[in-house]
Amino acid sequence: MKTIFTLLLIIGIWAQQTTNKISCPVIGIDLGTTYSCVGIFKKGTVEIIPNDQGNRITPSVVAFTDEERLIGEAAKNQATFNPSRTLYDVKRLIGRKYTDSTVQYDKKFMPYDIVEKDSKPYIMVSNIKGVSSKIFAPEEISAMVLMKMKEISETYLGKKVENAIVTVPAYFNDAQRQATKDAGTIAGLNVLRVLNEPTAAAIAYGLDKKDGEKNILVFDLGGGTFDVSILTIDNGVFEVIATSGDTHLGGEDFDQRVIDHFLKVIKKKHNKDLSGDKRVIQKLKREVEKAKRSLSATHETKLEIEDLVDGLDFQENLTRSKFEELNNDLFKKTIGPMQLAMEDSKLKKTNIDEIILVGGSTRIPKIRQIVKEFFNGKELNTGINPDEAVCYGAAIQGAIICGDSNEIDDFIVIDATPLSLGIETVGGVLTKIIPKGSSIPNKKSQIFTTYQDQQQTVTISVYEGERPLVKDNHKLGTFDLTGIPPGPRGTPQIEVTFEINADGILQVSASEKSSGKAKTIFIQNNSDRLSKEEIEKMLQDAKTFEIQDKIAKEIIDSRNSLENYIYSMINQIEDPEKLANQLSDDDKETIRQALKESQDWIQNNQNVEKEDYEQELKELQKICNPIISKLHQQENNDQRYSQENYDSEL
Ligand code: AMP
Repeated sequence: MKTIFTLLLIIGIWAQQTTNKISCPVIGIDLGTTYSCVGIFKKGTVEIIPNDQGNRITPSVVAFTDEERLIGEAAKNQATFNPSRTLYDVKRLIGRKYTDSTVQYDKKFMPYDIVEKDSKPYIMVSNIKGVSSKIFAPEEISAMVLMKMKEISETYLGKKVENAIVTVPAYFNDAQRQATKDAGTIAGLNVLRVLNEPTAAAIAYGLDKKDGEKNILVFDLGGGTFDVSILTIDNGVFEVIATSGDTHLGGEDFDQRVIDHFLKVIKKKHNKDLSGDKRVIQKLKREVEKAKRSLSATHETKLEIEDLVDGLDFQENLTRSKFEELNNDLFKKTIGPMQLAMEDSKLKKTNIDEIILVGGSTRIPKIRQIVKEFFNGKELNTGINPDEAVCYGAAIQGAIICGDSNEIDDFIVIDATPLSLGIETVGGVLTKIIPKGSSIPNKKSQIFTTYQDQQQTVTISVYEGERPLVKDNHKLGTFDLTGIPPGPRGTPQIEVTFEINADGILQVSASEKSSGKAKTIFIQNNSDRLSKEEIEKMLQDAKTFEIQDKIAKEIIDSRNSLENYIYSMINQIEDPEKLANQLSDDDKETIRQALKESQDWIQNNQNVEKEDYEQELKELQKICNPIISKLHQQENNDQRYSQENYDSEL
C-alpha cells in the first residue's frame, strides 16, 4: 500500500521528553533564504556567533569553482563571475515538488539550472573538479550552509557540536520541514526540532513568559521573502492562527530598483547601456546594498565604485527619500498580506498585543512607519536585532531542550494543524476526526460501523481539508481493515484513531473491537504533500463554496437518514428477537410494502433535494410509526431511529 503524505505543521514544536540524553550544547540555527545565523545560550544570555569574517550573519550561498567549494561570503563575493555555479535562495526549493508554481517561477529567473528528478527540483552544476555535471538536491546545498554554521559554532566553542534547533517558516509543510531536517543530518547535525521562525522570534522577546493570552503579529521581511504570522501564546503554548506573505518580496527587490535607477543615470550621463554587463551589476549590487543599509540610519549616502567599467569611476549620491520613492509601491505591497492575515485570524487590530519585527529589511524606516500606521500608531518590538531575533529564539530553545539552564523556565511550544483531518464515510462525506487548528501532538478516536450486512472489509480513506465532501479535499492515504466478523449492518464497532506525533507525522489506525483486528498506517511526507499555496487555495475554496457544500452535505445526510430508517425498520420487523413475533402478518406486510416503495423511490430519484428525502421519510414514518407505537415502543424507537444515534458508516 502506498503511503501518501505527512501532516503539515504550522509551527515547530518542542516536547519536554527530549531532555536528558542529548549531548549539549545545542546550537540554534536560523537557516534563512538569503542569510543564516547561529547562536548559543551561554552564561545566562544568547550569543550570536560571528563567522570567520567577523560577521554575525552568513550568506546562505554555496559556489563551486574549478578547484573548490565556497560557502558564505566567499561564495557570495564571486557570484557575478560564476553565476551558473553560485547557488543561493535554495530554501525556495527545499521540500517542494518540481511542478510547484513557485519552483517553475524560480527556474525562469535563477542563473543556475533547476532540473527534475523524482518529481522534485534538483540543481545541476557543471564542471565540478573535472566532472562534466553533477546534480544536487536542495537539501544537500542547505546541508553545506548548515555545515558552515556548525563549523562557525565549533570554532567559537572549541568543541564538537552535534545537536541543533533549526528554524523554518511557519507555513512550511511537513515535506519542507522533513527536508530541512534531512539537510541537518547530511551536515552531521542532529536536528532536535524544527522550530517556527515567528515562534522563535516571540521566544526571543520573552513573550511566552508574559501572563495571560497574547496575540502577536510577526512581520518578517528579509532579503527575498516576506512572511506575516499571527500567533497566540497562552501559558507557553504557541499557536499560529494565520500566516500570509509574499514569496518574492524583500531587500533584494529594493536593491534591484536602485540598481535599475543607477543604470538609467549612467546611460543618461555617459551614454552607456550597462544593463547586460554582469560584472557591473554585481559591483553595483554590492555598493547599493551598502548604501541601502546606511540609509536606514542616515538621510543621504554616497556610492563610489572605482573603475566600474572601462576606467569609468562611479560616484553618486542617494537620499533616503529617493530610495523610498523608488520602492514606494514595493513597500506598500506588505499591507495586503498583513490585511489578509488579520482577516484570517478574525482578530481586530486592537486585539494585537505585540508586533515583532524580523528580517534585515525591517530596519528600513519607511517599512516601520507602514507597519506602525497599519496598527494605528502601535509601538513595535524592535529591541533585538531583526536579523538575529529568530536565531536568538532558536538558541534559547536549544538551552531549554538541553536542560542546562536554570535561568530559563521550561515551557512547551505547541503546534496546530492547518487543515482538518478525517476519513471518508458513506455518501462521500468527510467525517472530521481532528479539526483544523488542533494542537500537535494530538490523538483522537471515533467509533464507526459498517454500511452493509455481512461486511467484512472497511476501507479507511484519510483526507485533509475543510469541505464536507471528500471529492473536494486532499487524499492522504488509504487502507483496508479486513477480517471483520460478519454481522448485520451497523453492529461492528470500528475504532479509528488519528495520532499526530511531535514531529507532525500522522498515524491512522483502525481496530474492530470484538475481534481485535487492527491495522495502522503512517502517513509520511512525500511529493504529494500540499504546498502552502495549495493549502491557502483549499481554505479559500472552503469559504467560496460554503453554501453549495452545506446544501450538498444536507442532501447526503437526509438521504442517509431515510436509508437508515428503512434499514432499521427491516431489521426490526424481520428479527424474531425484535418485533418480528409481535407484529401481525398484516402489519408486517404493510410496513414491508412501504419500505419497498421507499427503496424504489430512492433508486429512481438520485438527484433530488434534501426536502424530497425528508418528505419521503415523513411519509414512510406516517405508515410505520403508528404500527410500531401500538407495541408501546415508540420511545425506544424514536431513539433508535434518530440519525444522531448511529455511528457513521464506512
Ligand atoms: P534577512 O534575510 O532577514 O537576513 O534579511 C536580509 C536583507 O535585509 C538583505 O536584503 C539586507 O540588505 C537587508 N538589510 C540588512 N540590514 C539592513 C538595513 N540596515 N537597512 C535596510 N536593509 C537591511
